Amino acid sequence: MTVRRIMGLETEYGISVPGDPMANPMFLSGQVVSVYAAAQGIRSNQSSWDYAFEDPLRDARGWQLDRQTADPSQLTDVEDPTLANVVLTNGARYYVDHAHPEYSSPEVTLPRDAVAWDRAGDAIALESVRLLAARPGQPPVNLYKNNTDGKGQSYGTHENYLMPRRTAFPDIVRHLIPFFVTRQVVCGAGRVGLGVDSRGAGYQISQRADFFETEVGLETTLKRPIINTRDEPHAVADRYRRLHVIIGDANQLDVATLLKTGTTSLVLGMIEDGHLTEDWSIRRPVAALQAVSHDPTLRATVELVDGRTVTALDIQWMYLEAARAWLGRRGDDPEPEATAEVLALWEEVLAGLGRDVMSCSPLLDWVAKLKLLEGYRARDGLAWDDHRLAAIDIQWADVRPEKGLVLRLRDRGMLRDLVTPEAVKDAQTTPPEDTRAWFRGECVRRFTGQVFSASWDSVVFDVPGRASLQRVPILEPERGTRAQVGALLESSADVGELLRGLATPE
Ligand code: ATP
Ligand code: MG
Ligand code: MG
Repeated sequence: MTVRRIMGLETEYGISVPGDPMANPMFLSGQVVSVYAAAQGIRSNQSSWDYAFEDPLRDARGWQLDRQTADPSQLTDVEDPTLANVVLTNGARYYVDHAHPEYSSPEVTLPRDAVAWDRAGDAIALESVRLLAARPGQPPVNLYKNNTDGKGQSYGTHENYLMPRRTAFPDIVRHLIPFFVTRQVVCGAGRVGLGVDSRGAGYQISQRADFFETEVGLETTLKRPIINTRDEPHAVADRYRRLHVIIGDANQLDVATLLKTGTTSLVLGMIEDGHLTEDWSIRRPVAALQAVSHDPTLRATVELVDGRTVTALDIQWMYLEAARAWLGRRGDDPEPEATAEVLALWEEVLAGLGRDVMSCSPLLDWVAKLKLLEGYRARDGLAWDDHRLAAIDIQWADVRPEKGLVLRLRDRGMLRDLVTPEAVKDAQTTPPEDTRAWFRGECVRRFTGQVFSASWDSVVFDVPGRASLQRVPILEPERGTRAQVGALLESSADVGELLRGLATPE
């Protein structure tokens, strides 16, 4: 694989009720998810998600829920909304995690699609906020695409990459840590304040860096590790690993998202192929991560175990050059245009950052935000610890286009977009065509009433007239594509026909 790879992005949105710091975020997050699901006419599968992995037929009556009303103003709060957990027609999962609404994108294969289906999540978050605001008596709920509330809490944006199980984990660790410590200069989202509680005055490159404490580990919310060892493949387990990356920031700029997913996929490809032979390990990587983040001039240096002293940009150039050499040697790229786009933008960004950081403001979140903040600082003479700058940082990430400062930059044509608003709108309701997300999303769209539950690796139907639930496993992420099952779905008048068609050998 080159840049083409099964991947998906998870975003936990920050949530707040203006004027009510005591509001219960868990409950409100549930409302956010439920109101959107109801408006889509999708029943809330609620806790069946994880359960379905074990045995979907067990205790069925206990967790089957009534289909929710399709009229959001009629939404009742009787069910526990904190358990809200739905599969959308675009193949995504929308649920409550750690007291935040979370959108987990459907599986895509190309970085541009990762951008489209990630921004679809922002559109869904916006629509959820608007639907809630339209409910009589509802306190206003806001969502933010960021990773810290500036008061010590952090919430995650995760990347997920499919890898062959045979790749040795120590190789993944050795070659990914230097890459992850330094890729923030490309895909950091920028942050006002230093330290977990933002008390130190200053601006830093990454939202998340200060929240990391260790190199490798299983945790995602305590003692956060640069490399997370969580390994639930949601796929054939002896063939695949799902690499769960928790060190990224929530990005809003298309180029940053494209490079985050595209360059990571390339580095994984090099690791899988054994192309990276030199050891670029960094001494004290957690401290290095924070030192890099705390220096927006990009002059901070880190020490490699081989004794060299280099900058984050130097290390990113090393990976880029290695990728070029590797691709030249392989010469079998199934997606040469997608790869060329990632390489060209990677080089453009590294060269731009080396010449004049601000030249990257249409391309990278942290630079765009820094430019805006420097504007306010120059105009009003604000010091970095002025609370107005912290407020601007939060408003930057507001999902409402009339409020969100990054969205206003987009409106004014100040950002280099890679996907059109129409493509984002489509991605909000339509699944990617080239993964199993197509089958999952189309089943929800066509047969909502009979989809008992759905998860990454199965769809469970409740077919009228059948005593037991019918489970369709989708354990191969590249099967269930439009090319494979589109015609069958199209010609199936009901779930019974679909199941008969699936059972018939092609
Ligand atoms: P948590 O929220 O606790 O981190 P989680 O990491 O298990 O949970 P989900 O929120 O369910 O995950 O999201 C999983 C993400 O991984 C989705 O974006 C999905 O598209 C993607 N994904 C699912 N299966 C695979 C796979 N086999 N390889 C790579 N990505 C996958
Ligand atoms: Mg998740
Ligand atoms: Mg996750």
